[in-house]
Amino acid sequence: MELTIQSLTKQYGSKLAVDRFSTNLSEGIYGLLGANGSGKTTLMRMMCGLLRPTSGEVLLDGVNINDLDEGYRELLGYLPQNFGYYPDFTAWDFMLYLSSLKGLPKLTAEERCGELLEKVGLYDIRKKKIKTYSGGMRQRLGIAQSLINDPKILILDEPTAGLDPKERAKFRNIISDHSTGKIILLSTHIVSDIEYIADKIMIMKHGQLSQQNSLEHICDSINGFVWYCKVTLNEAESYRNRFVVSNLKHNGDMVELRIVSEQQPCENAVNVSPNLEDLYLYHFKEEA
Ligand code: ADP
Repeated sequence: MELTIQSLTKQYGSKLAVDRFSTNLSEGIYGLLGANGSGKTTLMRMMCGLLRPTSGEVLLDGVNINDLDEGYRELLGYLPQNFGYYPDFTAWDFMLYLSSLKGLPKLTAEERCGELLEKVGLYDIRKKKIKTYSGGMRQRLGIAQSLINDPKILILDEPTAGLDPKERAKFRNIISDHSTGKIILLSTHIVSDIEYIADKIMIMKHGQLSQQNSLEHICDSINGFVWYCKVTLNEAESYRNRFVVSNLKHNGDMVELRIVSEQQPCENAVNVSPNLEDLYLYHFKEEA
């Protein structure tokens, strides 16, 4: 199975929200990393067939997804941004309703919905109305609904928004469990969400795909640009103003800095191995 994105473009007035985005996705987990406004949601909505591109196309095994129509939707699971629909439905009724839309037989649907609600920790409160749920609970329901049809292609827009660290860890496990033989694309600006589970990282900047590679390779691309140094408390302030500081730790009257910079920030600075957080700061320093 291969999903091909070919020069996909979406223009709003003079604004290019997505700009000639091209890539191939095969089975695996892809993390789409980008600052707010970089075009992630627009890209994902076009990949789901919910938004018509200005130009370019999305192909599944060589066939345009518009031509596959229903056949594509059957393969697709999607978690939109700010998920929170049907406030007067209970989670249980909502899940059953979506299952019937997806054509699942009733008994299979009940079993499947029970399993999924159990997985996201909502089974015990499944008969409560969605409007009584907290943001995190709604988001977990959103994750459960995206998996109803055991989708071969799963597109998740900021799936961990509003989740606490424990829920985020649980989410990662659910996605990993579901990932065999599937194409999963998840967008985030929280680096740790994808650092551990994504096979490939895509960096999106101003509507364009600026980099796509494995975590290891993508971090290698800024080898030599991440530094560790120890400075005095007074100096630390000036370093923070002049450089991108990815971490800062007080140690007695000294401060240990981790700095992302193409130039050596000071004489005693030594290079350290870059991580994804450093990479993100390197690419999005204007936004940071
Ligand atoms: P992200 O998901 O990375 O935050 P979006 O895809 O939501 O980015 O937005 C990309 C850019 O396109 C932003 O500048 C946004 O303001 C603009 N944009 C998105 N949707 C619309 C729209 N319906 N009309 C006009 N501009 C839009």
